[in-house]
Amino acid sequence: MKSASQFQLKQSNSFNVASITPFIYQPASYSDLHELAGVVNQPFYILGEGSNTLFVEDEAPVIIRPDFKGIDIEETGEAYLVRVGAAENWHQLVTFCIEQGIYGLENLALIPGSVGAAPIQNIGAYGVEFADYCHEVEWFEFNSQSVKKLSRAECKFGYRDSIFKRELYNQGLIISVSFMFPKAWQAKLSYHGLDSLPEKVSAMEVMEQVIAIRESKLPDPDVLPNAGSFFKNPVIAEDQYQILKQKYPDMPFYPQDNKSVKLAAGWLIEHAGLKGFCRNGAGVHDKQALVLVNKLAASGKDISALAKYVQTRVLEKFGIELLPEVRIIAAKGEVELEGVEQ
Ligand SMILES: Cc1cc2nc3c(=O)[nH]c(=O)nc-3n(C[C@H](O)[C@H](O)[C@H](O)COP(=O)(O)OP(=O)(O)OC[C@H]3O[C@@H](n4cnc5c(N)ncnc54)[C@H](O)[C@@H]3O)c2cc1C
Repeated sequence: MKSASQFQLKQSNSFNVASITPFIYQPASYSDLHELAGVVNQPFYILGEGSNTLFVEDEAPVIIRPDFKGIDIEETGEAYLVRVGAAENWHQLVTFCIEQGIYGLENLALIPGSVGAAPIQNIGAYGVEFADYCHEVEWFEFNSQSVKKLSRAECKFGYRDSIFKRELYNQGLIISVSFMFPKAWQAKLSYHGLDSLPEKVSAMEVMEQVIAIRESKLPDPDVLPNAGSFFKNPVIAEDQYQILKQKYPDMPFYPQDNKSVKLAAGWLIEHAGLKGFCRNGAGVHDKQALVLVNKLAASGKDISALAKYVQTRVLEKFGIELLPEVRIIAAKGEVELEGVEQ
C-alpha cells in the first residue's frame, strides 16, 4: 500500500492550514484494506479532499486516504446504474455524467470534494441531495475485515446526516458509491435562482446556471481558502421560532415536517453583526456570512477560535447554538469545537 511518513497536509485541505501527520496510508485495493488492521487501533482520520475538514493542531492523527478510482456504467431499459470509486472527484463526476447523457446530479455541480465523502453528510444543494440518486454504498468494515453493501435506506440519510456519522462512525470506510439515474428525467427548478429557467431546459443548462450562481456567491478555495458552510442551518422547535419571529419578522425560515423550523445560519451570523469580521487572519466572508475564510495565513486554531466566537455571539443574540458542519481534527482525532484549546 502506498504510504508516507511525516506528511504535510497543507495542500490536502481547503482551509490551507499546516498540519503534519506521522503517517498517511492510501489503500487502493481490497488487499490494501486488510493491511489497515494495525492502523486503526490508534487515533486516525479518513481524509478525502479535505474540503470539509479543519486541522486545528500542528500535528494530525494518522491519515487514511482511500484511493479507489474508476467509473462503471450499466444501462437498463429505464435507468443507468453508475458505480464510482471513492477517490473520484465529485464535480468531475457530475460533468462526466451530464456529458454522457446521464442526468440527475446537475444541481450538485461544483461541490468540492471526493465521491467517497458525499454520503457522509449527504451533500446537498439547490433542492437536490446525494441521497436522491444513491443506490448503494460499498463499505469496508475494519473490525470484521469484510466488505458490505448498504442500500440507500440502510444509510439513514438526513439533512447533512447519515449512518456514517452515527452508528458506523469510525467503523470503516467507503470504497465506492453506486447511483441509480432513471432515464425519465425532469429538471428540479424549485430553488431560488433556478426558478427563472424555462421548463424545457437541458441538464447541461441547469448545471451551467448552478455553476454561475455558486461562482457569484461562494469564494473559490484556491483563491480564498475555506470549507464552504462552516455551520449547519439550525433546526428549532416551532414554539421557539414563533417567539423569535415577533422580534425578527424578516428572519428567513423553512418549515420542516415535524413541527420544527429550519433557520438560515448565514442570516443569524450576519445579523449578529459579524459579516466581514476578521481576527488573526481568519474571517467571516463578506458576501456569505456562513463561510469562514483563511484570509492571511491563519492557523487551524485561529479559524476554530473565530468559529467559537461566532457561535458565542449567535447564542447570545438569538439563543440558538450553531453546530459546525466542518469536521474539526486534532492530533488525537476528531474533536468538538468546544474542546479545541486556544
Ligand atoms: C467552497 C465550498 C462549497 C461547498 N458547498 C457545499 C454544498 O453546497 N453542499 C454540501 O453538502 N457541502 C458543501 N461543501 C462541503 C464539502 O464540499 C463536502 O462536505 C464534501 O463532501 C467534502 O468532500 P471531501 O472529499 O473534501 O471530504 P473531507 O473533508 O476529506 O472529509 C469529510 C468527511 O468525510 C469523511 N470521508 C471522506 N472520505 C471518506 C471515505 N472514503 N470513507 C469514509 N469516510 C470518508 C471524512 O472522514 C470526514 O468525516 C462545500 C465546501 C466548499 C469548500
